[in-house]
Amino acid sequence: MTEHTKTDGLPGMQAALPARTPERAPARNARVSEQKIACNACPVLCQISDGRTGACDRYANQSGELVRVDPVIFMNRTLQQSGSTPIRFTQADVTGQTAGSTSGISEVSGQDVFVTGVGASTTYPDYKPAPFIVASTVQGVDLVTVVTEGIFSYCSLKIKIDTDRYLGPEQASVRVNGEVIGHVTTAEYGSQMLSLGGVHHLTGGSKKEGRVTMESMYTLGNKGAVALTIDGGAQVIVQAGRAPVVNGVTEQRMRVGCGSAAIGIFALQFSGLADEVVVVDDHITGVLTEHQAGKCLDMRPSGIVMRGRKSTPGRYFQVANPGTGWGGTDLADPLSIIEGWDEAVAWPGLRLLMTSTTGEHACWYVLDEQLKPIQTEIPAQVRDVVERIGENCEPSMTSVLFLAGAGGSLRAGVTENPVLLTQAIKKSLVNVTCGGAPAFVWPGGGITVMVDVLRMPDHSFGTVPTPAIVAPIEFSMTLEDYRRLGGHMDYVRTIEDTLRDGAWHSDGAPGALKWIRPNDVNPWPLGQPPMLG
Ligand code: SF4
Repeated sequence: MTEHTKTDGLPGMQAALPARTPERAPARNARVSEQKIACNACPVLCQISDGRTGACDRYANQSGELVRVDPVIFMNRTLQQSGSTPIRFTQADVTGQTAGSTSGISEVSGQDVFVTGVGASTTYPDYKPAPFIVASTVQGVDLVTVVTEGIFSYCSLKIKIDTDRYLGPEQASVRVNGEVIGHVTTAEYGSQMLSLGGVHHLTGGSKKEGRVTMESMYTLGNKGAVALTIDGGAQVIVQAGRAPVVNGVTEQRMRVGCGSAAIGIFALQFSGLADEVVVVDDHITGVLTEHQAGKCLDMRPSGIVMRGRKSTPGRYFQVANPGTGWGGTDLADPLSIIEGWDEAVAWPGLRLLMTSTTGEHACWYVLDEQLKPIQTEIPAQVRDVVERIGENCEPSMTSVLFLAGAGGSLRAGVTENPVLLTQAIKKSLVNVTCGGAPAFVWPGGGITVMVDVLRMPDHSFGTVPTPAIVAPIEFSMTLEDYRRLGGHMDYVRTIEDTLRDGAWHSDGAPGALKWIRPNDVNPWPLGQPPMLG
């Protein structure tokens, strides 16, 4: 982005413009000179020359008319496949896109169509009603969905990286191109967690920090890959739905559990095959004969003396430093965590298995006459159990959750009395979705929503150079509840009218929409309890 205000498009954006949705209300589309139009869809207030786009690439000046570059996304659950061709808000064109149907618009049932906020536009400043306030009837109940794009400064991404490997110390900075865009947060079971973005990195630092943060969030939200560097830790490439790449190595498995859990799960299968089993783990390293699982199986004590800090019987903390070796430690030689053997207890010929929590590392040893472990080939039956550990590990994956605050001025597009929307959401009278994907609403004050970006339509996220993230949000409820919470009743449109006319602030000229099938893993957003009573 070249400027944060009065932007005259982006350099090099002279290419032919794709299909567009005109923004036709005069107040949104003021001509500021013979060649330029002012866009007031966000606080940046770009002045856009003919043939150029605004700073966010979402709006353009097409022959003196302010147009939306990308289509608004409608979901239709009767579609066999998503339509990639933008179509117009006319009855004939809509008909042509409905899975080969030759029937009229009246056959597009309101209960099968959902208008998402993707491409829906905003109605800045916020006192204007949201662009789409759509009525539909589901199982005889009148519903309404308020649809808009939100412009979020208060937003972040929570990244869950399924790996045991050490990515960096908690609180360490996470960088992209040298700029800090977030930090390492608490590790979770089998996963390392990052918190990226947030208002302080977007707007509280340098202009470059804000831009790099915004671009990284935009890419990750839209399911793209971003290379991260963690201070004092690893380099990681993350992408929603893909295995993380740690220091150039693509992760394969998340652990079956901690070392203690792995001992508990597989104790019975190891008994009789090994005299001692050590499951190496950065968190809790498990030792079978000392562990309660071994006690329950009446296993003979092995006399093994472990390094690290003993927690409870058979469970050891801090056997090594964290790292990218065995079980998320820095170990290359697992024997280095064994202090020695109690000569009064151990015996020559004792069979020892050492394995990691994923089964990716495993070694088999037999004690010689001096009680020294000698590595030999793993017996087939033991190998089978180690492979079963691997079989029980889920594929390593990266999850990206978008977290944003919608409890501010955005609510004025829904109701004249915003606190009533907040209260209705807390009472579960309103179903909140982002691009049709279910959003978890955090308890407590405000409307803080969290959504899995993989469940949202592709290209759901945009940016504006304030800098902030643009994301879709929809509020669905009964028409009666909408009336009760002070909704903009004069702007409620049927789905048929919406398909014909577009957003309320358009003037009826052709616009672009795209039909998609809903994501099969998502519940249909209309008619969720308690909407239907
Ligand atoms: S950044 Fe985009 S939405 Fe904001 S004024 Fe410019 S063109 Fe309009």
